[in-house]
Amino acid sequence: MNSLDQLHLDGTWNPILNIGSLSTEKALLSETIFTDSNRNLPIWKPNSNGFFTAKSGWEVSRQKIKKPAWASRIWFSNHVPRHALVSWKALKNGLSTMDNLPFLDPSVNRRCLLCNYGLESVNHLFFQCRYSKWIWQSLLGMLGHFRSPQPDLLQEELWLANSFKGSGQSATLAFLAFEASIYRIWVERNQRVFYKKSLPNSVLLSDLLSLIKTKIQGLKLTDLDTQSNRSIASNFGCVFCPSTISLQSCSWIRPPPGSFKINSDASLEDVGGGIGGAIRDSNGFLVSMFSINVEREDILALEILGVLTSLQQALQMGCGIIWLEVDSKSTADIINGLSTILAGASAALRKFSCSFLAFNDGASPTFGGKGIALQTFYPNENAHAKG
Ligand SMILES: [Zn+2]
Repeated sequence: MNSLDQLHLDGTWNPILNIGSLSTEKALLSETIFTDSNRNLPIWKPNSNGFFTAKSGWEVSRQKIKKPAWASRIWFSNHVPRHALVSWKALKNGLSTMDNLPFLDPSVNRRCLLCNYGLESVNHLFFQCRYSKWIWQSLLGMLGHFRSPQPDLLQEELWLANSFKGSGQSATLAFLAFEASIYRIWVERNQRVFYKKSLPNSVLLSDLLSLIKTKIQGLKLTDLDTQSNRSIASNFGCVFCPSTISLQSCSWIRPPPGSFKINSDASLEDVGGGIGGAIRDSNGFLVSMFSINVEREDILALEILGVLTSLQQALQMGCGIIWLEVDSKSTADIINGLSTILAGASAALRKFSCSFLAFNDGASPTFGGKGIALQTFYPNENAHAKG
């Protein structure tokens, strides 16, 4: 085909020029015809050398859509590649979940293998499924937010982006946790589908914390500029230790099998106060953890607030039998109804219908220097529950 008249037959473009999914007309519109001495030659304009390539053809023919805002957030500077890739697929609804397999025999069970209850879809797995919801809620608690995930993964990502703006360390931790959760839950799902192996979600959470901790230990987190940032970082094992403070080892006694133990504490310093708590099961696995800055000036009120917040969180996590340890005798007395210093505290505590509560009034741990909330996650030295 060397001349222009061969390209245009009977008033229409020659269909022989069809290229893949391109219409003839579209293909020719992309071309320029020029005369080279005695003959006309078609050149492929989209390519600078005039020759057609599959890549340039694809660029011309493909539908270009605007990159979604979440794409750049998923590939943030400190992302873990395999975590980001699975998260990106999940947000695009591109994972091979049961609802994304239309060719599957209708008789095949499409139930979620994590909870054996809901139908498997991206939004169910992340994080409507009770198995994965518990994991993500635990991590959210460590990020300082106690809430239920949005019903849609895209909405949840948007919430995360709005709640952890910028590229500071809190945002880094939040997105590391988000993507690690999606990745690890997807791996767990595949283990169950293909290898019939399964892990309890408490073990998965433990794995996740190790993954995140390993990652952040390799990062140069230099913008520990606020108490909130320091608290969040410490929840994930990135301990910020001012030079005036040293940590001492301490012991922790397991609660009876099937029950949970809360260690709650509060602290007060010149710039404000903080409360914190850790919930562990009878195997010592961390169920949940939190650290919150609060603007109160009364240490006793802070201690009670820490206890109430811990109890609230434990009940949200479905903990039935709870043991509670505090390191302040005054706090224990209020909880046990032996003191009426804070009149509202006993009433607030009675709202919790735990099966059993035990309080410890053991000695305070010695950390040296002024206490700040992040230290309080360490269990109390010489602590032991008493009924
Ligand atoms: Zn499920």
